Amino acid sequence: MAHRAHVADTVAMVFPYLTRDTMTQPGTPAPVGGADLHYRQALDQGRFLIQRCTSCDRAIFYPRMVCPHCGAGEQQLAWEQPSGHGTVYSTTVVRRKPEAGGDYNVALIDLAEGVRLMSRVEGIAPAEVRIGMAVQTKIVTQDGGPLVVFTPEGGRHDGFR
Ligand SMILES: [Zn+2]
Repeated sequence: MAHRAHVADTVAMVFPYLTRDTMTQPGTPAPVGGADLHYRQALDQGRFLIQRCTSCDRAIFYPRMVCPHCGAGEQQLAWEQPSGHGTVYSTTVVRRKPEAGGDYNVALIDLAEGVRLMSRVEGIAPAEVRIGMAVQTKIVTQDGGPLVVFTPEGGRHDGFR
């Protein structure tokens, strides 16, 4: 409950003009919380889903109740499983003492569908992750819950050598 309220508040701050109407309509499901819940339930079942707006045909992530591109409502937002192919947009190494688990990678990944998400690249030393590196999604369990991470795909999408 606290989480749903938090997400709704965050989106309301970022997109007040988009969420005001749906949030004040009585009897409608909690905005964003519904999309967020659907996303998490699918992920719990091992499926990573993003949304696509059937009105403007653009992909959407993170889960929302209103298209950020054209303003279409929830009825126009469909769920789909992305290809899993992505490209590293930016990467950084978070330094951590070995006894705390060692360094780890944090990266912004552009999915082939055109959405960007924050995650990490595994299966390679954190500092070896490169901008432009081809990666693919992998669902791992962390702290008892599913998490979408990426592994190198063995190629590059941008011609870097
Ligand atoms: Zn749209």
